[in-house]
Amino acid sequence: IAPMDIRLLALNIFSRLENIAKDRDVTFKVKPDELSGVWVMADADRMEQVMLNLIENAVKYGNEGGKVIVHFSEGKKLVEVSVRDNGPGIPHEHLNRIFERFYRIDKSRSKEIGGTGLGLAIVKHILNAHDTKIAVMSKPDKGTTFSFKLEKAYISPISENLPETAVTQANP
Ligand code: ATP
Ligand code: MG
Repeated sequence: IAPMDIRLLALNIFSRLENIAKDRDVTFKVKPDELSGVWVMADADRMEQVMLNLIENAVKYGNEGGKVIVHFSEGKKLVEVSVRDNGPGIPHEHLNRIFERFYRIDKSRSKEIGGTGLGLAIVKHILNAHDTKIAVMSKPDKGTTFSFKLEKAYISPISENLPETAVTQANP
């Protein structure tokens, strides 16, 4: 667990998913857009898996021509991250079950789209390991929002990038 810029991670994932987003005419946004970086304490590799699955789901199961928004809300000690789509939503009776391994909803486009149904089970597991949880809110025909909170990172990102020699000199 180390400081990482989760806003930058979201932007990187947007560019990795550029092709499938173009195919479905989906547009990506981070909000609020005046932020320059959002620093949290997290395992960067694991957080990449979390954000990739949530954003990819939003593209795959959201509407064609839809919008995917990654929103950040910074509190005193925590940052809330949410991934929102304006797609068909998830029917109420499935909301708890989508976090089970291999669970996929028949009626959503899932059957024609590739996937194993493991993504959200992994997301839940990783966030548990970060002492936090995933929440989901969905309204039929309005869309779905997945959200979670992470601890804010206070260490200056600049000190993280000091060359090794500078660190050695500072700590003889
Ligand atoms: P994998 O992530 O392993 O490639 P998957 O995407 O089917 O496969 P999950 O990410 O666990 O698996 O998602 C489980 C199911 O939840 C999906 O198959 C889909 O039916 C539904 N789902 C997930 N995200 C959304 C969303 N944003 N909107 C509507 N349905 C969703
Ligand atoms: Mg998935």
